[in-house]
Amino acid sequence: MTSKSYTKIFKQLKAKPVKLAKFKKHNQPKKKGFGSGSRKCKRCGRYGAHISKYKLNLCRQCFREIAVKIGFRRYY
Ligand SMILES: [Zn+2]
Repeated sequence: MTSKSYTKIFKQLKAKPVKLAKFKKHNQPKKKGFGSGSRKCKRCGRYGAHISKYKLNLCRQCFREIAVKIGFRRYY
């Protein structure tokens, strides 16, 4: 029962619902509450250079691409 992604094992444990519940209880990744790992770009999924101002939730690269489309007149 070893796999890189923990969701891959669900396929193996589908026939065993009790074991699946136990596996989820102990191996599910914890939900991030704070820090850079909790903020993700909603467009590409990048973690770095996050812009949360005005509730954009974009990385700087995506913001640069779509800033004019959203309605920003100037950006840096
Ligand atoms: Zn992005």
